[in-house]
Amino acid sequence: MTRQDVRLGRVLGIPIGLDYSWFLIFGLLTWMLASSYYPDEFRDWPPALYWLTGAVTSVMLFVSVLLHELGHSVVALRYKIPVRSITLFIFGGVAQIGAEPPSAVAEFFIAVAGPVVSLALAVFFHAVQPMAASIEPVWGVVKYLAYINLALVLFNLIPGYPLDGGRVFRAIVWAVTKNMRRATLIAANVGRFFGFLFIFVGVAQVLTGNFGGGLWIAFIGWFLDNAATAQVQSVMFQGLLRGHKVAQAMSDRCAAVPGNLTLQQLVDEHILGGSRRCLLVTRGEDTVGLMTLHRIKEVPRSEWVTTSAGEVMIPLEQLKHIDAEAEIWAALQEMDRDGVNQLPVTRDDRVIGMLSREDVISVLRTLRELEA
Ligand SMILES: [Zn+2]
Repeated sequence: MTRQDVRLGRVLGIPIGLDYSWFLIFGLLTWMLASSYYPDEFRDWPPALYWLTGAVTSVMLFVSVLLHELGHSVVALRYKIPVRSITLFIFGGVAQIGAEPPSAVAEFFIAVAGPVVSLALAVFFHAVQPMAASIEPVWGVVKYLAYINLALVLFNLIPGYPLDGGRVFRAIVWAVTKNMRRATLIAANVGRFFGFLFIFVGVAQVLTGNFGGGLWIAFIGWFLDNAATAQVQSVMFQGLLRGHKVAQAMSDRCAAVPGNLTLQQLVDEHILGGSRRCLLVTRGEDTVGLMTLHRIKEVPRSEWVTTSAGEVMIPLEQLKHIDAEAEIWAALQEMDRDGVNQLPVTRDDRVIGMLSREDVISVLRTLRELEA
């Protein structure tokens, strides 16, 4: 989950969160609905009813977006791809799917599942409209939800990666070319094209007087372009890292500290004095765990003299690790899957170093310089 979100609970075992930006959108949308949309559609409601109906509509939109993301998630889980969380934020929702899809077919079905759910919702809300016709506010909400879910389908079907339509497009190119990297590059560049198009249209709207709407369109374009650029970069990095092993990037300047050392000694002798980037905890010849600054900070300073490293460390059994001969790219994916920033590196079942995201970035920088 992102750092700035409010947890709502779990659905199908997936943690659901609200990013703070969502509250802004909730407020804006409720205000827009209560102050202009509903008063234009329906006259003579008491003011409180406009606000209540606006707020209910916003919450229902949130539920619609959540169901859309759950659509993606259910199919991902079917393909045994873990879904780490769903976060709803300013532009809708993001299901944090923990790995790249294993095949073009999986990608296609995962991508298409969200818009299919939204389309089903649009059809459903459209179909129940006649039943709701006698109660004006209910009818208003249902009508708006039919419209907004259809809008969600159309927006998401724009074939620019990383929108759903772009994923479908990537899956098709992937199936045809049998090359996921090439497919991602093509789909992401189409995504950038749509990003620019939105910015262009948005700016044109602003210049012709539609300030609010134009700015919003340009903002979406900017967001699309950013997301697509990040994908192009990721593919480039993958290309640069190809063939490079974890052993080349890891830091082997790990200090081995005996498990009976106190935290105070550890901080004084190894962290402040030694500027070590990783600390392995040993018992005899064997590495038994990993120590992180985060773990040390969790212990009150007054207890540092009485607490041993062995009590606070993360035991080796609880740690995912990566083989020194594995590809760096595979290690990055492993980190993404587990939501961690570093992995112990092993050779013949012995920990010989640590690989962190910073290590990978510094290798990337060097590889880029060598290429230039
Ligand atoms: Zn989607």
